[in-house]
Amino acid sequence: MTADSAPRDVWVLVDHADGRSVRKITYELLGQAQALAGAAGGRVVAAALGAGIGGLAGDLGVHGADRVMLADAPVLERYTTDAYAAVLAPLLEEARPRLLLMGSTAWGRDLAPRIAARTGAGIVTDCSAVEIEDGRIVATRPVMTRKAIARVAFAADGLRIAVVLPNVLPPAPAVPGRTAETVAVPVTVDPGAVRTRVVEIRPLARETVPLTEADIIVAGGRGLKGPEHFALLDELAGALGAAVGSSRPPVDSGWVPHDYEIGQTGKTVNPQLYIACGISGAPQHQAGMSGARWIVAINRDPQAPIFQIASYGLVGDLFQIVPLLTAAVRRLKAAPQG
Ligand SMILES: Cc1cc2nc3c(=O)[nH]c(=O)nc-3n(C[C@H](O)[C@H](O)[C@H](O)COP(=O)(O)OP(=O)(O)OC[C@H]3O[C@@H](n4cnc5c(N)ncnc54)[C@H](O)[C@@H]3O)c2cc1C
Repeated sequence: MTADSAPRDVWVLVDHADGRSVRKITYELLGQAQALAGAAGGRVVAAALGAGIGGLAGDLGVHGADRVMLADAPVLERYTTDAYAAVLAPLLEEARPRLLLMGSTAWGRDLAPRIAARTGAGIVTDCSAVEIEDGRIVATRPVMTRKAIARVAFAADGLRIAVVLPNVLPPAPAVPGRTAETVAVPVTVDPGAVRTRVVEIRPLARETVPLTEADIIVAGGRGLKGPEHFALLDELAGALGAAVGSSRPPVDSGWVPHDYEIGQTGKTVNPQLYIACGISGAPQHQAGMSGARWIVAINRDPQAPIFQIASYGLVGDLFQIVPLLTAAVRRLKAAPQG
């Protein structure tokens, strides 16, 4: 680490699928890091923690990392707060980069405050943008269940951590042939000091992309009236290449699994297109989806609050409208391009 450039460097914490591939959020963070580091004359440093992850370095270089810090050890095979914090915090304290970007994912949200507390870093969570203004780093984040947008400036010096929402920033483009310097990080964590242990992982039986990464989401609410009618949404989603989500009542009623829920107590999603079917648009639901670029609402009640935030509103019976939409999408997709 050269002491002169480190304080201008921007670090990215790499999110990966068991060391096999880099997740989309990491490419988004690398794109943002390139813009910020470039403006300050620093480097983009990707920190990857895991077991058997050496194969990720090439891809990280292609997507904009100048340096890859690889902490590769069996104790890091599964994410645990203790082990990941024990490796990452001293690394950051030694390097003192200008900024660390992390994804607002399940483990990113768990780790970020711990690292901030350990290193004394300033932290802003749920960022939708991070920019440099008059030499200061300023983050934008939704507040009050997305009814307002706050702009938060970090203190002028010291380590800063921005936890960035998935699916809001453009990913770094791939530059074939681009390479990164790789640095092996010694891992000295005593497995006995790790207070939690992953005993089982049950993969979800979802065939589509995760809701937080989806560009198109078809979501259903209490207006679906029963679990069997989610098949209508599956059909539309299949035609569009979309993921299916829901408001809270279908989850509470056991119609769909918990990971479908979107909103204050569910997931925050940022798709290009969100099609809300039989959802009234309560504030707690809007908290998770109002960041969608285009919102299409299908509801038979013209007074439903969802229409206040919808880009397009279809007032009518979803049981008639959704199959018509599915048929129209299939027709359009089957039509010769030109
Ligand atoms: C602390 C807290 C946290 C919460 N967190 C969440 C959360 O994360 N996510 C969430 O979604 N909710 C959450 N809620 C619940 C939230 O307040 C609402 O109760 C919920 O979002 C309503 O879901 P809904 O729109 O599916 O149902 P409803 O409000 O019952 O709306 C159903 C809609 O379907 C329409 N409809 C009915 N039949 C048809 C038809 N045939 N065709 C077209 N439209 C039809 C109706 O006009 C109605 O607008 C939370 C509540 C609390 C108190």
